[in-house]
Amino acid sequence: MTGTNELRGEVLDYIGGAWRRPSSDAATEVLNPATGDVIARAPAGSAQDADAAVKAASAAFPEWRLTPPADRIQYLFRLKQLLEDHFEEIARITTTENGKTLSEARGELRRGIENVEVACGIPILMQGYNLEDVATGIDESMFRQPLGVVAAITPFNFPAMIPLWFLPYAIACGNTFVLKPSERVPFSMIRITELIEQTGLPKGVVNIVNGGKNAVDALLDHPSVQAVSFVGSTAVARYIYSRASAAGKRVQCQGGAKNHVVVLPDADRETTTRIIADSAYGCAGQRCLAVSVAVTVGEAGEWFPKSITETAAALKVGSGLEDGVQMGPVITSTSRERIRSLITQGASDGARPILDGRDISLSGWPRGNFVGPTVLDGVPAASSLMETEIFGPVLSVIHASGVDEAMEIIARNSYGNASSIFTTSGAAARKFRNQIPTGNVGVNIGVAAPMAYFPFSGWKGSFFGVLHAQGRDAVEFYTGEKVVIERWPKEWSRRF
Ligand code: NAD
Repeated sequence: MTGTNELRGEVLDYIGGAWRRPSSDAATEVLNPATGDVIARAPAGSAQDADAAVKAASAAFPEWRLTPPADRIQYLFRLKQLLEDHFEEIARITTTENGKTLSEARGELRRGIENVEVACGIPILMQGYNLEDVATGIDESMFRQPLGVVAAITPFNFPAMIPLWFLPYAIACGNTFVLKPSERVPFSMIRITELIEQTGLPKGVVNIVNGGKNAVDALLDHPSVQAVSFVGSTAVARYIYSRASAAGKRVQCQGGAKNHVVVLPDADRETTTRIIADSAYGCAGQRCLAVSVAVTVGEAGEWFPKSITETAAALKVGSGLEDGVQMGPVITSTSRERIRSLITQGASDGARPILDGRDISLSGWPRGNFVGPTVLDGVPAASSLMETEIFGPVLSVIHASGVDEAMEIIARNSYGNASSIFTTSGAAARKFRNQIPTGNVGVNIGVAAPMAYFPFSGWKGSFFGVLHAQGRDAVEFYTGEKVVIERWPKEWSRRF
């Protein structure tokens, strides 16, 4: 059975160790993007349910914070094993609700599990530091302590991985956690939370509250929430950053992107084309690290548009659960229409759609949200498309006279999530790495996704805050630094 609606269920909250029906009405249809079938209806979310989740997390905090770090991570070791045992099952859930291919869903889960593994190092990662004799008889130490209740709000495009950028570190550091997953893809995290329950984690340490803006706003304003992590579009990132920080919380918000790759004339043609095709069309372009604009330099402007078009045209599009499919649908029919109209706009601004995926029709999947791979050649610099995150399988190709001009184009963009260069020249690669103003940089890499032990960076309009997700940044974000200065004069030890 492939591509049929295997998943049905109710979108329940998980609060204080119990599964509960949300108090708000159903608002959003959870759809299988390949079939158009309704899987479930997700709640609008309510302040009341968010408050219940925060209260459960607050109640669990005092005991959890005093649980030794070495004991806290035992639950994560168990979770890691359960995720491995249920790997295929979770990947299928992700594909069914999100649309990405099964191999992409496996890839995302693998990257999520990496974060669980890294957080198991908390007894070392969370250590502070100290110095004896900062003055005569005086010692000074820095301890890292958990903050309390922390919340995360996550997007639709990585339903399993992105919550795991936060959850393992938050709880390993001794915080208690409330997740508000994307209302469009709630089931991957519902299944993972069932596995968390099987680890025996104390009730209230991890909670899920479903819904949209109602639930989010209640978390942003809640006096007991100490820190908020967010991943999603830039407009919402900006809103969440300002509202939660105005409420005195620690906030990290990862936003949208407009990623560029520069193709130099000396790049290896075959590898470059293959890697850029994967970056532009993998996950149907719905990755915050997907390349959106290829900037060709010199004679790369002659061969690259042809080679990328040939490779993109050969991609097999269909339901992500089908064998051999290389690109699935986009998330909703609204997204599909939006992407189609942006291609139309690019064409009317003067770009040539040398591969046009607007009218793709797949006989087996008449109600799926498919857009075919698209290449827009020669998008004018003045086109608003150059500043628009399309978030679909559309690659714009533009041309620059040299590497400096290519880098200026990237520097002018208001986003700063990722950029890459394709070249065999070490000098050009080094200059690019050193000077390009994006948080993640690839050299002959199409999707510059940091491993779990590095921060998932992002600059300019792609990130609001200081500390990023994953690795040491996550540990810093989820802990407060307490500095203790102690005086124990020599004379006081005379008694012994
Ligand atoms: P989104 O901003 O629409 O939604 C993200 C989350 O915010 C969801 O949980 C949603 O319920 C909530 N939300 C939406 N509107 C809200 C509002 N007005 N007030 C309060 N909460 C609101 O994003 P999406 O469409 O789910 O995800 C795609 C976006 O995420 C893209 O822009 C993509 O680039 C970005 N993204 C960024 C990164 C990164 O690391 N920088 C990673 C993945 C995705």
